Amino acid sequence: MSASEYDYDLFTIGIGSGGTRASRIASGHGARVAAAEEYRVGGTCVIRGCVPKKMLVYGAHFAEDLEDALNFGWSIEGKSFDWVALRDHVQKDIDRLEGLYNETLENHGVEVFHERARITGDHEITLESGRVVTARYILVATGARPHVPECEGREHIITSNEAFHLDEVPRRVLILGGGYIANEFAGIFNEFGSKVTLANRSDVLLRSYDEALRDRLLQISLTKGIEFLFNNKFEYIRKRDDGALDVKLTDHDERVYDVVMAATGRVANTEGLGLENIGVELGPRGEIKVDEYSKSSVDYVYAVGDVTARVQLTPVAIREGQAFADTVFGGGDPVAVDHSCIPSAVFSHPPIAAVGMTEGEARNRLGNVKVYQADFRPMKNVVAGRNERGLYKMVVDAANDRVVGLHMIGPESPEIMQMAAVAVKAGLTKADFDATMAIHPTMAEELVLFK
Ligand code: NDP
Repeated sequence: MSASEYDYDLFTIGIGSGGTRASRIASGHGARVAAAEEYRVGGTCVIRGCVPKKMLVYGAHFAEDLEDALNFGWSIEGKSFDWVALRDHVQKDIDRLEGLYNETLENHGVEVFHERARITGDHEITLESGRVVTARYILVATGARPHVPECEGREHIITSNEAFHLDEVPRRVLILGGGYIANEFAGIFNEFGSKVTLANRSDVLLRSYDEALRDRLLQISLTKGIEFLFNNKFEYIRKRDDGALDVKLTDHDERVYDVVMAATGRVANTEGLGLENIGVELGPRGEIKVDEYSKSSVDYVYAVGDVTARVQLTPVAIREGQAFADTVFGGGDPVAVDHSCIPSAVFSHPPIAAVGMTEGEARNRLGNVKVYQADFRPMKNVVAGRNERGLYKMVVDAANDRVVGLHMIGPESPEIMQMAAVAVKAGLTKADFDATMAIHPTMAEELVLFK
């Protein structure tokens, strides 16, 4: 079959961050593109992930800002918080963003099907409506969904998907997990006044981050009143007539909560897509196995984003979508995404941000490393009377003075890290940081003043 004998040059299944970028860039390269989405256009990040989460983080932080305002001379009498107002404002903005995503695709000439699609044969896709179409290339960008552990009463557990739509702020909330989502939502609920308990199967929070930062977040979270139960799993969850949930964790007596939320990782959405019909190979956790150009084991099927479980972050999915479209339709050299040295952040209270190797990783890989640390109380916290310290850490390869890791916890650290990551990615040295004049007074100046 020649290219024009297919209905489309590209059919994208799943219109999230990766699928959107790939579809519109492919179309820009002249491809005839269609895309299908069974839920809402925008994917996890826009609809029920990064974006609404960040809005809740902003909303939550006012709890502290209003307290801190006092020492800056402001009196905020009669302050109150209206969850429904925030929730609905957030959802309204999500509707707006979804509209923009649809508009972008339309403007780029991408035909959008608002229904589920599955692969039913070679180059063949069948839509929920029964319509059958063919495509020269198929891109799977179906993302991932929350994993919920097996236990009695599992049906009573919510995930971050539902957390955005709660009718009220729960009085008592139990979060299972110790990663990104668990720590971010622990902070959000705690600021809104919930009694938050975080239970994790191990005693390690945010496993991939530097130990010093993890310890600092734990200490600060404890001070804020979040409770941590380590080395625990669910035994059962039983719902009372009044809706409250009796929960038994392995090492504790039964306790009652209003909401139980699982934040225990995410699984690739590969079921029911018909991948087995054409022999697309999956990895051990159900993810699509791909090469450096996002090509699967089947020559004309590609996959980008969370469904490949390489790095489950939005900007990575977007880069993978772009690289795929440029490689397959751009007419130039193939483009591979560089997955090294990816900066990341946890929007906890306070937030964490990091790029490059942790101290432990650097010692294992490089042997001889130098570590610089700034443990300081941000000026704003001093005036506010908030006894909360920031911690910045720089890890340097002793052999050549290159900065191989930066780790920060403190106000605005993700904003600061985005720019600092450019220097680390570019391979700059500690001497380069030292040669840069400080901006005073800022928190970020600590990065160029390490002694
Ligand atoms: P994470 O991988 O961050 O954390 C999962 C947590 O759940 C870990 O504490 C893990 O424990 C525990 N866990 C894993 N499997 C089980 C299980 N079967 N039973 C009990 N506990 C389990 O996942 P999240 O769900 O928090 O987030 C998913 C992904 O989404 C992240 O990895 C990240 O890529 C992305 N994300 C990014 C954000 C950001 O950039 N700010 C925000 C939110 C999500 P252990 O450590 O022992 O393995």
